[in-house]
Amino acid sequence: MLNKRLGTIVLMLATLVQGKRVFAQESTKPIALVADTVIDGTGKVLHHATIVVEGSTIKSIGGPIPAGSAVYNLGTLTVAPGFIDTHAHIQWHFDNGRLAGKGEPPLQAILHAVDNSVNTINAGFTTIQSPGSAEDLYLRAALARGITPGPRIITSLVPLTEKSGDPEKLRELVRERKAQGADFIKIFASKSIREGGDQTMTDAQLQAACGEAKKLGMRTLIHAHADSAARAASNAGCTSIEHGAFVTDETFRLMAKNGTYFDPNIGLVLQNYIANKEKYMGIGNYNDEGFAFMVKGEEITLEGFKRAIKIPGLKIVYGTDAVAGAHGHNGEEYIARVTKGGQDPMAGMISMTSLSATSLGLGKEIGSIAPGMQADIVAMEGNPLTDPTAVRRVVFVMKGGTIFKNVEPTSHK
Ligand SMILES: [Zn+2]
Repeated sequence: MLNKRLGTIVLMLATLVQGKRVFAQESTKPIALVADTVIDGTGKVLHHATIVVEGSTIKSIGGPIPAGSAVYNLGTLTVAPGFIDTHAHIQWHFDNGRLAGKGEPPLQAILHAVDNSVNTINAGFTTIQSPGSAEDLYLRAALARGITPGPRIITSLVPLTEKSGDPEKLRELVRERKAQGADFIKIFASKSIREGGDQTMTDAQLQAACGEAKKLGMRTLIHAHADSAARAASNAGCTSIEHGAFVTDETFRLMAKNGTYFDPNIGLVLQNYIANKEKYMGIGNYNDEGFAFMVKGEEITLEGFKRAIKIPGLKIVYGTDAVAGAHGHNGEEYIARVTKGGQDPMAGMISMTSLSATSLGLGKEIGSIAPGMQADIVAMEGNPLTDPTAVRRVVFVMKGGTIFKNVEPTSHK
């Protein structure tokens, strides 16, 4: 009953939040995108390319425009694969100028999540990984149905912590998450950065949780600031280390050797907390001490990132840790990585597209512009390889062949 009401309200909202039509149904005719510059997501730049989309996938690049196509002349815009954020808390939001939380009417909460979804896809992010909330189940399904604009959602549902239980209990909970519909397992192995980030979960707990997930074919994302937590997680065969404020070069090298992904967050999350301090202050560990840790954290995470990009073979994915106030600004991480972190812009682009797709196990479906791939395509004013701020100016968004932004074709053939 509640689910049915939720569905109706979300559907109404999909109409309301748009104001004007900014998204369309999947086209039955081919769509041809004519572009001067295409960053393909794997490290190549194509010039004067015509991308033909049929249904939800890319049919051809550089071939003829089929009869009956809707043609979008993207002119001097720079085209790229839809961006991917491997760490976005899509449910987090403010209400009445404060971080909303427990006790909020569930209907209101899910509507705010729809707002976040619209903001996220309008910023060019066509896939996000949410680590995670029980409510993601409903949002993931609604967005897959296409009733409201938003990214593809990959979710862990409710995360596991050191308090979830002993190794045996953790194995059971991993199986339970899978049965509940989780796409991966999120595990807290250290304290929050607001509490210093020390390791919390034991090595044995990590081995149990990541081992069981692996057995079931599921990936594991580990929140770890402490070096020891990152090391234990990498050795336990966990898939990805998130945040990693205090990870040493030695552990980065171990992660590179073990093939553990690293998801640093240097450009959005802490800056967003600090900019919205009064909306968080006084709730849980959002206190003076917590904010002092976060102010210091900006410099610490930047320094860690600069070290990480120098480690040969370390796979650095694109996650922002977007929380309330940050959705729709997911591109800021790219700008920070390139302008402050010294990352090569092309490496940054690969990170936010094909490398992140591969880390999600979706490298053959999304993250690059090539025939047969899902038609997740964005276009922006300016070229992010020479002007990183171009990622703030996404003016065209297509997800799975459906255009969500800049709906009207420039001509028909
Ligand atoms: Zn997070």
